[in-house]
Formats: sequence, structure tokens, C-alpha cells
Amino acid sequence: MKTITPICVTGASGFIAAHIVRELLGRGYRVRGTVRKSAEHYPFLTNLPSAKERLELVKADLLTAGAYDRAVEGCDYVMHTASPYKINVKNPLVDLVDPALLGTKNILKSCVQAGCVKRVIFTSSIAAITDEPESHTVFTEKEWNITSSLERQPYQYSKTLAERKAWDFIMQKHPAFDLVSINPVMVIGPSLSRSLNTTNAMIRDIMSGVYPGIMDLNWGFVDVRDVAKAHILAMENDAASGRYLCSAETMHMRDIVALLKSSGFSKYALPKLDLSSKAGSLLMKVLSFTQPRDTGMYIRLNVGRTMRLDNSKIKRELGMSFMPVKESLLETVKDMERWGHLVPKS
Ligand code: NAP
Repeated sequence: MKTITPICVTGASGFIAAHIVRELLGRGYRVRGTVRKSAEHYPFLTNLPSAKERLELVKADLLTAGAYDRAVEGCDYVMHTASPYKINVKNPLVDLVDPALLGTKNILKSCVQAGCVKRVIFTSSIAAITDEPESHTVFTEKEWNITSSLERQPYQYSKTLAERKAWDFIMQKHPAFDLVSINPVMVIGPSLSRSLNTTNAMIRDIMSGVYPGIMDLNWGFVDVRDVAKAHILAMENDAASGRYLCSAETMHMRDIVALLKSSGFSKYALPKLDLSSKAGSLLMKVLSFTQPRDTGMYIRLNVGRTMRLDNSKIKRELGMSFMPVKESLLETVKDMERWGHLVPKS
């Protein structure tokens, strides 16, 4: 066994965190995961190999001061993944910003109080780097999202505020622990639970006729199992520092649709109409007003633009290598079929 002290993973029920828990257990670590309900709600965690011997689940809510005191007690390392990942919420302040920000404050305070924590690995996001691709910028860890607000891309705003809060805390309070952030792009891959993650849901939507055509949109993607590995490498590598943009590669919507068509998924309602021309992008911007508010805003800010990302820091400093996105996408779709998230067109 690697270490006697447990690794605390907040939001252990989440899509990414469940994979972190599995990977940590698989590598011989003890894990203390935080969840919001009692343990019997999480058989996908409690039935993991070695969970009976080395996984403990404790209850904690981001909004409750002191809720994480017990969770981080005696831990050398804390991985803070819990944060709402939703778009098109009713009240962005209450549903996104408050839990992200208060949760960050609460967990860091608990870590100070515990007195034993050496490092906090903070799950941030590309959302804290940018909410709008620019053709002339190759995004790295140096950029910060300065454009999101409660009205514009509130999820991205919540992630930016939370990560900033964490770095400000370190600068101002000089705690005994350091902070490393992992900033993943769109995370896809098989899910350990039936729950459908927001990013996998976007792939489901592409396959369910939600969009009128193929848009000029590209995204950075990374497999959930690679994101879990990145968190662990950031913990195991003493020299890890600062932010790590965690992206395997970018892929255009046109190539995603072509890959799915050629891989036997034509039975689903994949978009046929090619709207990826300049005129198509203009049309999509108009049609985006028929989409839910934040989805529409996302389309207007992203369509017709190319997201370019530099993942060299995480490869160089943490030795990360990434699974090809095509492989990951196909596994995601097969996994969504397994869970019954996809309905063939009639
Ligand atoms: P997820 O499956 O929705 O997990 C979110 C986790 O946060 C869940 O465990 C959830 O608990 C917990 N949570 C939400 N509100 C909470 C509250 N008030 N108190 C305590 N726990 C709360 O999302 P995910 O994709 O795994 O995301 C995990 C982290 O990665 C988030 O910080 C997200 O911003 C970040 N991220 C995700 C992606 C992506 O593409 N998936 C990309 C970049 C960054 P319940 O199960 O009880 O709801």
C-alpha cells in the first residue's frame, strides 16, 4: 500500500471523481470520498475492487461551513472536484456560483484547520481559461477567462471565480499546503454510474437530432480516465505546480459526425445538413435564439471559431500521455448505449 493516510476526494459521486476513486483504489491508496447522501446510494463506488477495505464515504455539502472538517482530517492530499456542472440553470448565482465559491472557501478552511494537508489538487476547467475561442490564440495555462459573468456563460463564471478564489487564498493566507489545478476541457468517456454527465449529454444531443445541422464548432476533448490519472500524477509528483491544461486534442463537429456514421451509429439521428460554412454559421447564430439561454449563448460565442490548445505543460511536467479522442468518443457512445441513454431514430 502506497500511503497510510487517506486521500480525500470531494464529490466522489461525480463522473470524474468516481474514476479518480477507482484509479486511487487500484493503485493501492486509501480513499475518503465526500458525498451528499448515505453510502447505499453509491453501489458503483462501494462495489469497486478494494472499496470494502480502503474506501470510506462521508457526507458533506459545499454550502455548509465546516462540512469538510471531518473529511480532510488526517489527509495529506485533498482532491477537490465537487462543484455543480450544469448549464441552463434557473438561478446562476444560487445554482452555480454560490456552491462553487463557498465550497472552495469551505474546503480550503478545513484543510488549514486539519493542519496535515500537504497539497490540494483542485479540479478547475478550460472554463477558467476562456469562454470564447479566438483564432489567433493558442490557449495555455497563462490565460484567464475575464469575460464570463452571471449573464454570460454562468457555469464558466463559477469555475473562474472558484479557481481564482483558491489561488488568492494561497497568496493571502500562505497555508502549509500548496495548490495544483487541473483544467480539463470537455471530459468524455464511460461512466461508472447511470447518471449522464453534461459533456456526454452533449454527444447524446448530437446523436438525437437536437441540432439542426453540422455546425462550425470544435472542442477540446479528454477522456475521463486520463483526467483521473492527471489528478493522481499531480499528487504524486512533488514538483507539480500551478495550473495544468488537460486536453488530449481538439475535434470538429464534422469529424465527430463522420466518425460516428462510419462506426455503425447511423441508426441515431445524426445531423445531415452541413451548416459549417460562413453562411451556415450566420444561420446558426440566428437559430441559437431558439435554444435554451446558455446553450444559445455558447453557440453564438463559439460557432465559426477555432479552439486551439497547448497541452505541452502537462505532458512535459507530469509525464501525461493521452488516449486518442476518436477511441474515447466511440467508447463513450457504446457506454451510453449500455446505460440506455440513446434512442435510435424511428
Ligand atoms: P458531475 O458528475 O456533475 O459531478 C459533480 C459533483 O459535485 C457531484 O459529486 C455532485 O454531487 C457534487 N456537488 C454538486 N453540488 C454540490 C454541493 N452543493 N455540495 C456537495 N457536492 C456537490 O460533474 P463532473 O463532470 O464529474 O465534474 C467534476 C468537476 O470537474 C467539476 O468541478 C467540474 O466543473 C469539473 N469539470 C468537468 C468537466 C467535464 O467535461 N465533465 C470539464 C472540466 C471541468 P451529487 O452527486 O450529490 O450531485
